Amino acid sequence: MTGEVDVIVIGSGFGGAVMACRLAEAGARVVVLERGRRWTPEQYPRKPEDPWFYHHSQPHKLDGWLDLRLLKGMAVALGAGVGGGSLCYSSVVMKADPEYFDGGGWPAEITYSELLPYYDKVHAMMGVNDIPAGQHTHRFQLLQQAADKLGYGDRFRSMPLALTFDPAYHYGLPDPLDHKHSKPFTNPQGKRQGTCVHLGNCDIGCDVQAKNALDFNYIPAAENHGADVRPLHLVRYVEPVAGGYRVVFDRIENGQLVPGSLTGKRVVISAGSLGSTEILLRSRDQYRTLPAVSQTLGSNWSPNANFLTPDLYADPAKIHQGIGPTISAGVDFMDGALGGKRFIIEDDGFPNLFLNAVLAKLRSAPLSPAGWALRTAFQRGFNEKNPMDRVMVWLGAGVDAGDGRLHLGRDWLAPWKQELKLDWDVRRSEGVIDAILDLHKRLSEASGGHLQVPVYWRLFKNLVTVHPLGGCKMGGDAGTGVVDHRGQVFGYENLYVADGSVLPSPVGRNPSMTIAALAERSARLLADGIA
Ligand SMILES: Cc1cc2nc3c(=O)[nH]c(=O)nc-3n(C[C@H](O)[C@H](O)[C@H](O)COP(=O)(O)OP(=O)(O)OC[C@H]3O[C@@H](n4cnc5c(N)ncnc54)[C@H](O)[C@@H]3O)c2cc1C
Ligand code: SF4
Repeated sequence: MTGEVDVIVIGSGFGGAVMACRLAEAGARVVVLERGRRWTPEQYPRKPEDPWFYHHSQPHKLDGWLDLRLLKGMAVALGAGVGGGSLCYSSVVMKADPEYFDGGGWPAEITYSELLPYYDKVHAMMGVNDIPAGQHTHRFQLLQQAADKLGYGDRFRSMPLALTFDPAYHYGLPDPLDHKHSKPFTNPQGKRQGTCVHLGNCDIGCDVQAKNALDFNYIPAAENHGADVRPLHLVRYVEPVAGGYRVVFDRIENGQLVPGSLTGKRVVISAGSLGSTEILLRSRDQYRTLPAVSQTLGSNWSPNANFLTPDLYADPAKIHQGIGPTISAGVDFMDGALGGKRFIIEDDGFPNLFLNAVLAKLRSAPLSPAGWALRTAFQRGFNEKNPMDRVMVWLGAGVDAGDGRLHLGRDWLAPWKQELKLDWDVRRSEGVIDAILDLHKRLSEASGGHLQVPVYWRLFKNLVTVHPLGGCKMGGDAGTGVVDHRGQVFGYENLYVADGSVLPSPVGRNPSMTIAALAERSARLLADGIA
């Protein structure tokens, strides 16, 4: 064996952080290569001129918080940094439905009961809690009342959140959002955190560290067992070498891309649905270093039927959209009771600071139809006549057709470059989107809102997703999947994929817990081989 290290993990989101942690605990020498920065609370973006965005093809110029990718018919929001999507996610951590594993292309070994112990591990590590009874946000109450009015009270749920609450906290405290009400504590991984004081900044980094993100649990646990986490390493492709694999990357250093490589006995690709699929596509089709990767690579991609609809309320006090955990509650139709369409609706607040930055970015971006549509939607919904504190967002997630295809194609402006492209026909998923939108409308009417159906949907049937899934799906063999039930790539021993790309079909619910549970299982099986 010639590998410099035992395991190289590419990416540090829900798949990568879990793999790094459990393999380091098992005694492996682990190196994590992560394309984004390592963020500290003092560096979280706050002002419009701060580094909000990551540019996937020019990360040496823009290596900020969020990677907003505009694909054909689809905008995809992704985390970039040590902690991956957990940095910017809304902390909703929930299991998939048991039936999810009955069909949908899963290999026979993956069942709900098989995953249950791994879900339990994730639950414990992420510190999952419900919002305490005395701390329900205005959005929580608005959704509950609207659901009751529509006769859906029994479908209303408090969302399980990876946040730490102080049961004694309440909005009646003097100056309730003051940081002084946050109670400091040291978590089991030795990191300093505080309890939630409802600042509403969950998606842009919690100022009091109440958010139990991966950089507060799995990643420090990995480092406590010797893992070496290297930020600002953008992996390009992987090639087999004697006794392992070479991972070829560019290091982002002083505004430059500096080429480099590292060899390991085993490699775990955990760069997310778009990132892992792109690394394998480039390895198979561009650099031809992994020519035998399954022809199913890129297929069964899904936006998890995400649909976001802004809603305008005359009285900002009714929603206080920016106060409290970004998502707090949901109405659950995953049983298909509404016309057989399976989905869940959640309330979604947003940090106003972030929306200002998005608008600034869209104003300065070159205009594609999708970019124009997004910009118009944002401007229409959030201009000065309609201040943002009167707007909340309904988020829908559900089971779409899951039939997108990622592939490499020529860049029109620079034809010598190969870019990640998406083929996605919305028509086969329109039914579930229409069902989500219809319920958004009815919830809005029931709560006195004025729904703003985004222009990018009305005119172009374009979508925005924060839950990209699939591309390197699990399957029974190379004819039906890219990886087996352990996450090992068919045809390449000791090469693994662990992240949202391995899901063979949309989960409908918020996916992070299922991604992490699958990674826990892959890590367990791989660690048995290492030990
Ligand atoms: C605003 C927002 C809110 C969300 N809210 C929720 C929620 O409440 N609940 C929920 O379950 N899900 C939520 N999600 C989705 C959730 O974040 C993702 O499903 C999850 O992070 C996916 O995990 P992953 O391991 O597949 O990939 P990621 O977490 O995206 O991790 C991939 C990592 O790989 C890195 N990477 C990518 N390419 C490369 C490369 N070439 N080289 C090196 N590193 C690379 C990335 O920077 C990233 O750190 C939200 C997402 C967003 C954007
Ligand atoms: S609501 Fe505020 S304090 Fe609570 S977790 Fe989110 S950002 Fe932190």
